[in-house]
Amino acid sequence: MQTGEDSREMSDIDELVPPNRTLMGPGPSDVHPRVLRAMSTPLVGHLDPSFVEIMDEVQELLRYTFRTDNQWTIPVSGTGSAAMEAAIGNVVEPGETMLVPTNGYFGGRMASMARRAGGEVVEVDAPWGEPLDPDDVADALAEYDPDVFGFVHAETSTGVLQPDVSELTAAAHDHDALVIADTVTSIGGVELRVDEWGIDVAYAGPQKCLSCPPGASPLTLSDEAMEKVLSREEEPRSWYLDLSLLEGYWGDDRSYHHTAPITNVYAIREALRLVAEEGIENRWARHERLAGALKAGVEAMGLEMNAPDEYWLPSLNAVRVPDGIDDGEVCAELLERYDLEVASGLGDLDGEIFRIGCMGYSARPKNVVYVVTALGDVLEDMGADVDPGRGVTATRRALEG
Ligand SMILES: *Cc1c(COP(=O)(O)O)cnc(C)c1O
Repeated sequence: MQTGEDSREMSDIDELVPPNRTLMGPGPSDVHPRVLRAMSTPLVGHLDPSFVEIMDEVQELLRYTFRTDNQWTIPVSGTGSAAMEAAIGNVVEPGETMLVPTNGYFGGRMASMARRAGGEVVEVDAPWGEPLDPDDVADALAEYDPDVFGFVHAETSTGVLQPDVSELTAAAHDHDALVIADTVTSIGGVELRVDEWGIDVAYAGPQKCLSCPPGASPLTLSDEAMEKVLSREEEPRSWYLDLSLLEGYWGDDRSYHHTAPITNVYAIREALRLVAEEGIENRWARHERLAGALKAGVEAMGLEMNAPDEYWLPSLNAVRVPDGIDDGEVCAELLERYDLEVASGLGDLDGEIFRIGCMGYSARPKNVVYVVTALGDVLEDMGADVDPGRGVTATRRALEG
């Protein structure tokens, strides 16, 4: 029971007034005001006829954004990792082998999830900061004959975009392996064509290039992948993420499984409407143009990108930390002085890179000029050998050009 004194202390907790940050890190990105507005509209029930219609619309918009005709395309309740675990936990059966990459943080997470699903993990090697080499993938497929091959299309931990996706999927299919792609930081930001590229299963997240709060996360599976899931001998270990049960809600029946996160479904619907309004290809082009201006600015001020141009990832720019500078201090100072969020490196690139996102609603001229200006200012103050003026000028020119 609460004493009078306790409840006085509780009432001392003020109304929520979060700081007004500019989010240019690895996600979440700034949320579009139209998405925030959609989230403040009244709830309906998760089986309300009006909500059933909203579900259909979200599925249609997700297919457009993934560039797929897959019937099995849904928002999974939870963050990107929930969609990831739904993919891996349903597709990988106990005793099966999954081939995963070693070239970043999220390949490691794929491995953990595959093991928990009862799978055996084998690896295709590439250093952090490099993409997978198709020849290495082909060799690993030949050596291990895996049932499932997973790769990360846009590695948020390294700023590397995996090229040659069709080559990787073709090699996997030659060995009868299903392909699971992590498209969390590519969906709605850089070119992604699920069907044309032969991706069997793709999962994504809403809070990166879709500029939507985390909570309902895109997932798509081909008919063939779904057939495998529906004919499993053993039930998946997660009840919540069991796609054969979720089929009852998102498929034709529309019967209760768990209460959908209504507000997050509203949010992703609005975020995806924004994608469709802009046009998916225009959106990819915008990310490339805006991130290109950001990149021009950091390079002109004297910094170096971590990834070579051939596999630069526009939605996540990995910039080398200059000599003698503490990356953590820079990030803290940017937050303190500019209300600006960028991130430092992790894993093998800990202390070596800044991770500057350029995603969705954050990919705007104003934000790009702001991040280049702020970063130049803070680095110069800390004694780094940079020329902030040249950086800002280069960014402006790139935006005009
Ligand atoms: C952010 C991210 C995830 C995980 O998403 P959460 O929403 O944090 O659960 C998975 N893969 C990649 C590449 C990501 O960037």
